[in-house]
Amino acid sequence: MATWLDATDDEVWAMQLVIGGELVDGHGTEADPVLNPASEEVLAEIPSATVEDVFAAVDAARAAGHAWGATTPAVRATALLKLADLLDANADELARVESANVGKPLGAAAEEIPLCSDHVRFFAGAARVLEGRAAGEYVEGYTSMVRREPVGVVGQITPWNYPLAMAIWKIAPALAAGNTIVLKPSELTPLSTLRLAELALDVLPPGVLNVVAGRGNPVGEAIVTHPAVKMISLTGSVRTGKAIAAAASEHLARVHLELGGKAPVVVLDDADVDAVVACMKIAAFFNAGQDCTAATRIIATPRVHDAVLEALVPAAAELRLGEPLLSDDVELGPVISAAQRERVLGFVDRAGSDGAQVLCGGGAWGARGFFVEPTVIAGAAQDSEIIQREVFGPVITVQRAADEDQAIEWANDTDYGLAASVWTRDTGASLRAARALNFGCVWINDHLPFLSEMPHGGFGQSGYGKDLSIYALEEYTRIKHVMASLA
Ligand code: NAD
Repeated sequence: MATWLDATDDEVWAMQLVIGGELVDGHGTEADPVLNPASEEVLAEIPSATVEDVFAAVDAARAAGHAWGATTPAVRATALLKLADLLDANADELARVESANVGKPLGAAAEEIPLCSDHVRFFAGAARVLEGRAAGEYVEGYTSMVRREPVGVVGQITPWNYPLAMAIWKIAPALAAGNTIVLKPSELTPLSTLRLAELALDVLPPGVLNVVAGRGNPVGEAIVTHPAVKMISLTGSVRTGKAIAAAASEHLARVHLELGGKAPVVVLDDADVDAVVACMKIAAFFNAGQDCTAATRIIATPRVHDAVLEALVPAAAELRLGEPLLSDDVELGPVISAAQRERVLGFVDRAGSDGAQVLCGGGAWGARGFFVEPTVIAGAAQDSEIIQREVFGPVITVQRAADEDQAIEWANDTDYGLAASVWTRDTGASLRAARALNFGCVWINDHLPFLSEMPHGGFGQSGYGKDLSIYALEEYTRIKHVMASLA
């Protein structure tokens, strides 16, 4: 079998796990085929890890933890800066792999890599300014101080929509804080993460970053239930989040959950409709709508509702679909799998049966690949499934709210609380909305941008814990009070 660097188009790539600083084959008897969702071709067959492989990875992480946790922040920062340089140096290859495995346009995949290296550099710097909050004499005759220490071995589990970025969001703060890692990427999209771990062998000590491949059960579960794994960080669905929180409670491991979303877009009467629609073309359909912060439901007040709908339908309908690796001008790739395509189309069908109008799209597209047409739905009831549940595909709804208060009320009326946006030229209205919206992130007159310095994480069933920013770094630490007698 060829490696992906030298594979010809019709060859299957060979990939290995990384355990204890070695490239190793998983000992699972079955190899899950990893597909290109745009062509349905098999890209790679990766023997899954077994539970014993997970145990070996945890042992390796535990053994490496003593030395890595004792390094100075400067040493860890230097290693992370080298990792960032490796990402940049291998950007073209990583983007090609990500595009092939996730089905996203090559340009979109390429844009993710500098963001990833920026995150790594941010945490390299942040490692050196992490501090305890207090040191002083709070009781006469004693000095107290707070030490921030690594948590220990961290289990990290990532989803299929942004495999490399989600791995970086987890790896960088965990390593910066001095933890060691056992990470499992999604069984659908393991390729870029395995390549990242292979590249990282040159800059990290053996055992500091271990990557195992395979399904949630048994591989993910073996990580989550291992008593030596002191913290679990998941980005994934609400259902998986609940299962992991329950399993981790057996040994009281700390849990960090970045789960689903159903982001509302509140458009008030004085909003700039052209700006809203231009933004929605990206925010609703980027990554084929498989984005936890994707714009999924526009809630417009009466004066702008029709104008938004009239501009949005043709804008969505003209998006160019296609196989990303065959054409440079593709704007919308496939969803990740046949099952996901059927799931998305099922939501659209049921929305129609529930009385909503499907104004464009609503069907599968193309002779091969798991494509879904860009879809705009109007007139859905607030309590209907299409408004309440995460679809995770290129589908957006538009609702008419009576006024600002009802728009905010509907925006807050789902189980999710990850991200929202409000569109208005009125500063007071935008700040009222930002205060009232029950979401971990609120954008004003934009939707989707994120950055290394600011936290990302949800409320409600979107989970708890923050990625990115100094808050993520703190999450990967434990706090110890040291109290010294001055006698
Ligand atoms: P998923 O929950 O099906 O899988 C996520 C990961 O969990 C995969 O690696 C899977 O193998 C693993 N897993 C599944 N069951 C497990 C178990 N019992 N124990 C341990 N691991 C297990 O999610 P997905 O379909 O891969 O990703 C899509 C979901 O991720 C969406 O709901 C999306 O909103 C969410 N997401 C959230 C964020 C965020 O930052 N909040 C970002 C991206 C994606």
